[in-house]
Amino acid sequence: MTDNTVTKHPLTLLGLGDMGTALARTWLAAGHPLTVWNRTAAKAEALAAEGAAVAASPAEAVAANTLVVLCLLDDASVGSVLDGIDLTGKDLVDLTTGTPAEGRRRAAWAEARGARFVDGGIMGTPAMIGVPASGAYVFHSGSRALFDTHRAALQVPAGARFVGEDPGHAALFDMALLSGMYGLFAGISHAYALIEGEDIAPKELAPLLSEWLGAMGFFVGNAADRLTSGDFTTGVVSNLAMQVAGSGTLLRTAEEQGVSAELITPYLELMRRRLAADPVAHAGEDTVGAITLLKR
Ligand code: NDP
Repeated sequence: MTDNTVTKHPLTLLGLGDMGTALARTWLAAGHPLTVWNRTAAKAEALAAEGAAVAASPAEAVAANTLVVLCLLDDASVGSVLDGIDLTGKDLVDLTTGTPAEGRRRAAWAEARGARFVDGGIMGTPAMIGVPASGAYVFHSGSRALFDTHRAALQVPAGARFVGEDPGHAALFDMALLSGMYGLFAGISHAYALIEGEDIAPKELAPLLSEWLGAMGFFVGNAADRLTSGDFTTGVVSNLAMQVAGSGTLLRTAEEQGVSAELITPYLELMRRRLAADPVAHAGEDTVGAITLLKR
């Protein structure tokens, strides 16, 4: 197969919301024959002008190509759009955001209908799609054979990372990264609320906060090392007892500033519970030990 035939890999895309439209444009720009369908047909008009073939129904779109990419709102919309359609011999790549269990159920559902299946989790916004320097990529998991067959097309919109044959793992990596992100957003939001009404401009705090969070990024690797070894005490530089004592200062400062502590209280409370469970054994621990309280 020549490079030329690889770049002409035809595919179907179901779903032309903000993300689907961004994906579509990259495949069209790269010369891939693209068939699209969207529930609200008007959203396909601009893409038709750019060279996409517009299918009149999901069944027609699926029938057009072996590779069928889905980028719909949620897993329920995937089920309703594909309901009753012949999927025999199709390669489904579902870039719709979902949970790990939804990914596994959808894979079994697709395989029972004669299709191969890969679930995907998009790490990027529509503006980052098709921009190599943006750092956007997509987690994929499920059928390795499908991924290898279509890798060239799948990596057109953004980097394509295969994270295993368990179809739930793309969503799990996606949700793990997003969960970390929201925790970060929570702390940043609290920090800005603290200075509101003071003679400190948000732009004055911004570079300091950014630099500090970068320095504290070491926690990611530190946590992985300690969770792997099970050793929460060797080489600790900021012990749990000190941090629990210090959390009172954080809460009193929030009170003084008239700021709700709702965004930071859960983590402070987790540290307190870890210490309270065994003050002697846990006082000298790293805060990573508190993670062990989360698994139900
Ligand atoms: P939009 O809200 O812009 O688009 C949603 C799409 O789903 C539209 O094509 C919509 O059709 C379609 N849809 C919704 N419900 C149904 C239904 N019941 N039957 C048929 N079609 C339906 O969302 P995005 O395009 O931004 O997101 C799409 C997916 O990509 C989501 O799973 C999202 O989590 C994921 N994603 C989005 C990111 C982003 O920043 N936007 C980032 C990473 C992932 P219609 O046009 O007719 O309403």
